[in-house]
Amino acid sequence: MDTMRVAVLKEPRQVEIEERPKPPTGPGEVLVRTKACAICSLERRLYTGDQVIMYPLVGGHEVSGVIEQVGEGVLTPFEPGEHVVLDLLNRCGECWFCRTGHSNHCVNMWRKGNHILGGLAEYVSVPSKQVFAIDRNVSFPEAALTEPLSDCIHSLMRTHLSPEMKVLVIGAGTMGLLHLAILKHYGMTALVSDLDGDKLQVAAAMGADYAFDRNDSSPNHQLDGAGIPGADVVVVTAPGEQAIQEGFRAVGPLGTIVLFASQAEGTNICVDANLLHYNELTITGSESRTEKDFLQAVSMQNSGDLYLKPLLSEVVPLEDIEKAFEMALDVSKFRVVVAMDGVETF
Ligand SMILES: [Zn+2]
Ligand SMILES: [Zn+2]
Repeated sequence: MDTMRVAVLKEPRQVEIEERPKPPTGPGEVLVRTKACAICSLERRLYTGDQVIMYPLVGGHEVSGVIEQVGEGVLTPFEPGEHVVLDLLNRCGECWFCRTGHSNHCVNMWRKGNHILGGLAEYVSVPSKQVFAIDRNVSFPEAALTEPLSDCIHSLMRTHLSPEMKVLVIGAGTMGLLHLAILKHYGMTALVSDLDGDKLQVAAAMGADYAFDRNDSSPNHQLDGAGIPGADVVVVTAPGEQAIQEGFRAVGPLGTIVLFASQAEGTNICVDANLLHYNELTITGSESRTEKDFLQAVSMQNSGDLYLKPLLSEVVPLEDIEKAFEMALDVSKFRVVVAMDGVETF
């Protein structure tokens, strides 16, 4: 087959399947037949037009697949047929941030001509540094969650996490519950709060030690009820200033608050200065992830003890791409995954 199907975003809310030439496998590149691509918040924003890179555009950066061909000069001993996940947020490797191990702040990431995204296609050819082997026992849709998992590893690495700590995750969406999966992988105490009772049930099924309904009372009261004076780490994965303020009320002395979720432009927060002073709090943000975070996400997936299936709300065939995007806009859902070979393959 010399052509492939690709989901092309022509303009906001207009996505079409096109036949395009299958990409060549250049020197140093690996050609991957994609199997699953999850729709992330970035693709949702590109679909609605809330974020614009360019149109037309092929989105998709949470991808798993199978190696089809290995180009000349690839140093890693990749083999055709091997299962892989792809890092499709390519970084330049040359700028100050890339060279100092902080490629999530690469200044050239969105530069024209740079290969980024492109996972909503039947084939992708990328430099081998963007390809990571993954165990066959990780299903393709779950493997597609490796990329967002790496974002959540990055977030927790922004704190001084240690095993005895109690971590509160505000927001039980996909990203909140990926934080939970990591915390439980390390055997830590994890508390989750959300406004959606159904999502809290999923949090409980995924091992949350406490699942708090934010409608009842805010997390600090709930923590009191659970006999916890204050969380050591609070990760805010929910949007809105109220979620952040709840984080400040729930965090204990010496605690850290991670502002993981991006907020609406112009969101300002007001913090009691003495709360920071007397409690010696740390406030930080978290943006994307580095190659090291990605490697850790792969090894966590390969460990076989993550339980991510509840985070796959829908698996949709590529030909129904518009339906997939519309479903992904439904905030009550976790990840919507596009299956390149049709849903029956999973
Ligand atoms: Zn993502
Ligand atoms: Zn760079």
